[in-house]
Amino acid sequence: MRFYEITTPDGWGIPGIHGNWAEDELDGNVQGAVFLIRSGDEALLIDSGNRVPGSDVSMGPTIVEKLERDGVTLKYLLISHFHYDHTGNAAEIKQRFGPEVLAHALDRPVIEDPLILASPENALRFGVTPEQLLADFNLAPGESLGLSDPAVIDRYWNFPVAVDREVADGDVLHVGELELQVVHLPGHAPGQVGIWNPATRSLYCADIVHYPSPLSPYPIGNAADQIATLEKCLAFGAEYLWEGHYLGAYDAPAVKRRLEHLLRAQHDTADRLLTLLGRGEGPQTILELLPEVFPIKTDLNYEVSSGPGHRWAYAEACIQTHLQRLVELGRVQRVSAAGVVRFALV
Ligand SMILES: [Zn+2]
Repeated sequence: MRFYEITTPDGWGIPGIHGNWAEDELDGNVQGAVFLIRSGDEALLIDSGNRVPGSDVSMGPTIVEKLERDGVTLKYLLISHFHYDHTGNAAEIKQRFGPEVLAHALDRPVIEDPLILASPENALRFGVTPEQLLADFNLAPGESLGLSDPAVIDRYWNFPVAVDREVADGDVLHVGELELQVVHLPGHAPGQVGIWNPATRSLYCADIVHYPSPLSPYPIGNAADQIATLEKCLAFGAEYLWEGHYLGAYDAPAVKRRLEHLLRAQHDTADRLLTLLGRGEGPQTILELLPEVFPIKTDLNYEVSSGPGHRWAYAEACIQTHLQRLVELGRVQRVSAAGVVRFALV
């Protein structure tokens, strides 16, 4: 597969474009963007793309080819977050080019051992207990949360790499003459980080874009963190927005519009839930709310990928975290009756 390259004010990028909306989407053909920031002979690589054994959709060979072409010293490989489409070729790049591998402490455990995803305790990384998740979805103890299927994770996600150094919000990375600032961007993933390059006013924002909206709900995340992160990104007044998926935005007004749109999508999801809960039909379960919050995803039905009986689909997870945020804000309450958890307005 050919991956096209874009030129950025800092170096180059390979945009993160998904394969298609077919049943294999969750099973590897999801491609996270890769960006190189270069100054003089030194460079920092953001993310390492997807890796799909036995397929031609892996980004690894293309990344290696470009790095060899450039002949730069790869000083850092920053893993923006633990998702497989961003970590897939990290170990190979480490081995061939020897960069210091950087990641946030909150995502480090999964980057070094992706099978942690299959443990119920992984939910704690997103600020919710496994027991609460099971209750909210009306699942029995031990029932699968779908995308946490160990077989799926082992096949598509299990490409660990050792993290050499943890980075945190505000850390400065020196690359050539540049002073690049690490920005913590939780929400989509607890330990998601991006880069702010003040020299070109470029914000590398990873997957803040790829998160709940009616067209693109995304799995386990934290809606409250996501909203705060989008507001944080707006405050930079960036000239360029480089996203983990899609094409970003290339001037200040467009960056502002893009971020405001994403922020609006978050609030729209919350508003829609409040409207649905307020129309007089009484308390509702997540599954009852689902068809009217994300009708498109209901049609596609991610059960195809995660296996029969799996209900931890993207859209359901999105609804759960937004309901959790509304519970914390005192707008919504859980109503438990006859062993079934429903949600209602306060
Ligand atoms: Zn992601």
